[in-house]
Amino acid sequence: RPQHIAIYGKGGIGKSTTTSNLAAALADAGRRVIQIGCDPKSDSTSTLRGGTYLPTVLDATRDGGRIQLSDVSRVGFGGVLCIEAGGPVPGVGCAGRGINAAIELLRELRLFEEFKPDVVLYDVLGDVVCGGFAVPIREGLTDRVYVVSSADFMAIYAANNLFRAIAKYAPSGGARLGGIIANSISQPYARSLIDDFAETTGTRAVQYVPRSTTVAQAELCGQTVIEASPRSPQADVYRQLASKVLADTTAVIPRPLAVNDLRAWARKWGNVLLESEQGIVAAKAAG
Ligand code: ADP
Ligand code: SF4
Ligand code: MG
Repeated sequence: RPQHIAIYGKGGIGKSTTTSNLAAALADAGRRVIQIGCDPKSDSTSTLRGGTYLPTVLDATRDGGRIQLSDVSRVGFGGVLCIEAGGPVPGVGCAGRGINAAIELLRELRLFEEFKPDVVLYDVLGDVVCGGFAVPIREGLTDRVYVVSSADFMAIYAANNLFRAIAKYAPSGGARLGGIIANSISQPYARSLIDDFAETTGTRAVQYVPRSTTVAQAELCGQTVIEASPRSPQADVYRQLASKVLADTTAVIPRPLAVNDLRAWARKWGNVLLESEQGIVAAKAAG
């Protein structure tokens, strides 16, 4: 059975970038990969496909008639099969429906049996872990979840919310947590902060991904870093992530913090960082 892996995280945090580079690195290493965008933004797989337009499953469903796999998928870099679940018409409908519609269609088309993937990646919006966006982690659709987070409070807050959803559904067969992918790390404290949050909630940081201009440049070319700059240090980081994800399938039920405890935890870090900053300023002033 293929590994079904869901990637969550706050909007704009780097889920699609990370997922697409992970997919590209896995494909480069000879794995058969399917990436399913489960974000109403529907741009999950664009850097795997040169940024071209791909009709979403939900759009195809709306048009009626029989849908074929070729209507809603494209083969991208390294043979990665790219699919976008799509989202509701703005202001109407439920994002969970797009995800459900996509999964149902793919099962009907016997995609997993025909394509025989090694890994299926689900790139899911995680600001709101409502019933809709929780679909991929409920009832065993995916085996394992990773959350992409920076050291910013709102990203950690979204991660903590996701941990709640995992903790809720895991006992009844839902997915477990593989760990945190720490993205956009540019300051030394960011690692410590994420490590501390991980330890506090019973998980771990699986990979630190630096903030890098290579990512921005590759994105401008409509490509992943793996394709645009395979010999860059950033490509090595994504390859490392890929081999860890393949090799280490351990997953846990996290211990999310209550809102007040999360605030207290954040304040503690805020104070430590402000004090050390003032220390640096004072030391500079003293010459
Ligand atoms: P999400 O899918 O979570 O909404 P994206 O993957 O689309 O987020 O990333 C948002 C923006 O951040 C993109 O322009 C992307 O290129 C940039 N980005 C993500 N990760 C990095 C990184 N490690 N270094 C530099 N830019 C990044
Ligand atoms: Fe929106 Fe989530 Fe409710 Fe669906 S379940 S309507 S996506 S808030
Ligand atoms: Mg995205």
